Amino acid sequence: MKITVLSGAGISAESGISTFRESGGLWEKYDISEVATPEAFFNNPKLVLDFYNQRRIQLLEVEPNLGHLEIAKWESFSNVNIITQNIDDLHERAGSSNILHLHGELLKAKSSGPNQLPFSLKKPIIELGDLCEEGHQIRPHVVWFGESVPEMDNAESIIEETQMLIIVGTSLNVYPAASLAYSLPKSTPIYIVDPSPLDNLPPNAIHIKEKASTGLKKVTDIILHRTKI
Ligand code: NAD
Repeated sequence: MKITVLSGAGISAESGISTFRESGGLWEKYDISEVATPEAFFNNPKLVLDFYNQRRIQLLEVEPNLGHLEIAKWESFSNVNIITQNIDDLHERAGSSNILHLHGELLKAKSSGPNQLPFSLKKPIIELGDLCEEGHQIRPHVVWFGESVPEMDNAESIIEETQMLIIVGTSLNVYPAASLAYSLPKSTPIYIVDPSPLDNLPPNAIHIKEKASTGLKKVTDIILHRTKI
């Protein structure tokens, strides 16, 4: 069975990384327009670099949680693709193989000039004055609000092949990522693991109102039952 996981900030919450929109979440403490837009980087690059430097240092201190680990197990009996909105590398560290990062990767950087091929950072900090070979300031390899999402076509191709969709830890508020949840035929089973009430669920979705660590275990049982192992 071809399973696709669409994950968001909530799956990393139990690892200690703040989510996006919840009260007490990361973005309550910051103004998005000051740290996560191209204009912010143009106007105050040091503030933006510092914001992502802090996120990167925090990422190096946390570990994948039971939710990430549960998803990684599914590869032993299913074909699994993960489309994540997260910029952390916790799915990778949990042992999952096929991971598409829609919004970039915190541990990578790219030039702010025209040649924007991402590369892995050798240190956790990007400083003002760190330049690419062509002399442009380097920036985090993240998709900022207002930027296009280059991996969207690849994500849509994965979704087209999907026989079961598992959505975990996303409020389905950030577009175009959220549109992936609504593009499947009605016959394709969709399970959503999220402890909060969500008002914009795909019509045929079954909502398991639990945290990733416990809810995804229930999904494992459902997958095993469906594949009759
Ligand atoms: P969101 O904050 O809008 O929604 C998070 C969802 O996770 C909520 O519905 C919440 O109820 C749920 N949640 C909270 N704790 C959970 C748990 N233990 N288990 C399961 N679900 C839980 O996040 P989003 O929809 O991913 O959109 C946020 C954007 O911010 C994304 O684009 C993402 O790139 C970015 N972001 C990424 C990270 C990260 O990389 N870890 C962290 C914060 C924000």
